[in-house]
Amino acid sequence: MTNQPTPGWALVIHGGCGRMTRAGIDAEHDAGYRAGLAAALTAGRAVLEAGGSAVDAVEAAVRALEDDPRFNAGRGAVFTAEGHNELDAAIMDGATRAAGAVAGVTRTKNPVSLARAVMAHSPHVLLAREGADRFAVEHGVEQIDPGWFRVDERWQALEAMKAAAAAGESVFDKSLKYGTVGAVARDAAGHLAAATSTGGLTGKRWGRIGDSPLIGAGTWADDRAVAISATGSGEDFIRLAAAHEIGARIRMLGERPQDAADIVVQHELKAVDGDGGVIFVGADGSFGWSLNTLGMFRAAVSSTSNPIVAIYDDEG
Ligand code: ASP
Repeated sequence: MTNQPTPGWALVIHGGCGRMTRAGIDAEHDAGYRAGLAAALTAGRAVLEAGGSAVDAVEAAVRALEDDPRFNAGRGAVFTAEGHNELDAAIMDGATRAAGAVAGVTRTKNPVSLARAVMAHSPHVLLAREGADRFAVEHGVEQIDPGWFRVDERWQALEAMKAAAAAGESVFDKSLKYGTVGAVARDAAGHLAAATSTGGLTGKRWGRIGDSPLIGAGTWADDRAVAISATGSGEDFIRLAAAHEIGARIRMLGERPQDAADIVVQHELKAVDGDGGVIFVGADGSFGWSLNTLGMFRAAVSSTSNPIVAIYDDEG
């Protein structure tokens, strides 16, 4: 999907990808996901319409998705094998290529805002685990009892995974539905930004960290090319440096953002047996997404086009 280059602002968000089919999602859930996406789109759009920055817009949209228990980020994050929620997030400013990220935080209500604080108030890019939560306290980023993240449906998913493991089934089967949220924006001044936030994979162990908080893998923004947020089999996005790869193709080969995203997602990612999708906004103002799964929760709006909210691969 793509729209023609626009000189104004644009915003695209996602809420994860996977085996989403009309048969597998009932009408009530379908409507709930769409309402959650629409609300997050409105939050980001309000920033851009008021002349705010792309960085503020992606943070606002991702905070809304983190607070929505339907999506695997913030409240509603999946559980680790030990029954905890460990949250990862990143944000990048395409104007300066400043970036901030956190991995494995457990007490920060909105990890994307902590990633932003890392970007704004530390000399570092990526902070992890207790140290990252400590940094949050020192910088007044809201802390919360870890019980706030818990949603029963996610707990049941962990129980189901444990039962499958006990029965000898492969539990990190790539047919799993991925969840992660993200936003990319171009503001009226032409600056780009990207943000991504996730609980990672159900049953993750050993301090596993995926692509979302790794700059260049699941999150990337560069005013010379594109802003990207990814969702899918994180290890494959890390191997490909997928988000950066899309930007590099645009910058060095002169490809259109949609074409670069399609090549990386439909071909390069598939070639390593990876599943997933990306959303993008190009420096040229074009915006859209590319996915190689059956669905991706996603939505877009720009200064010259009406909002689109989509779930299944044939929409939008
Ligand atoms: N990419 C995320 C990760 O590997 C998962 C997802 O998108 O659902 O942590």
